[in-house]
Amino acid sequence: MKITVNQTVIELDCGDITEETTDAVVNAANSRLAGGAGVDGAIHRAGGPAIMAECRKIGGCPTGEAVITTGGNLKSRWVIHAVGPVYRGGGRGEAGLLVSAYQNSLNLACKKGLASLSFPAISCGAYGYPLGEAASLALSTCVTFAQSHPELRLIRHVLFDRQTYDVFAQELKKIMP
Ligand code: ADP
Repeated sequence: MKITVNQTVIELDCGDITEETTDAVVNAANSRLAGGAGVDGAIHRAGGPAIMAECRKIGGCPTGEAVITTGGNLKSRWVIHAVGPVYRGGGRGEAGLLVSAYQNSLNLACKKGLASLSFPAISCGAYGYPLGEAASLALSTCVTFAQSHPELRLIRHVLFDRQTYDVFAQELKKIMP
């Protein structure tokens, strides 16, 4: 499923983000940039040790922010490591932190002059964010960003399983401009 906002295509796909060919893939990293399970582990496995070597040099990244490394062996040239919040009930600023993880990733991509990037469902795995709310925040943040950043041509949301895809598709239909 895809929509066009101004000059940017926002697209949903079900699949493995390590197979993306966009200029950058976004990693759902932890604040120590230490690697881990889930999409983080998959990106480091597929991209090879060069990515971790760069992460070690950077040292860490606060929740809600993002840093960039090269993509190692991935087809994507860059990895943007975004740190989403751990969901603890919703009263601890989680929504704002999730939005800023997406915003900072998008800003970083534009600063680097990139035309396309792919997001996983940040915070929707081990970090426990309720899927519908996370999808709504992720998509509305991308739609808003696209309205003022035509140079970013393609934003993909690569959802690992059918259930996550279906929830994102449902939320995208709700906010379609
Ligand atoms: P977080 O700690 O931010 O919750 P996780 O990696 O645990 O990050 O999960 C985030 C989302 O990424 C989940 O929806 C999970 O199913 C998904 N995911 C896991 N592996 C991949 C992959 N290879 N490609 C795309 N999405 C993935």
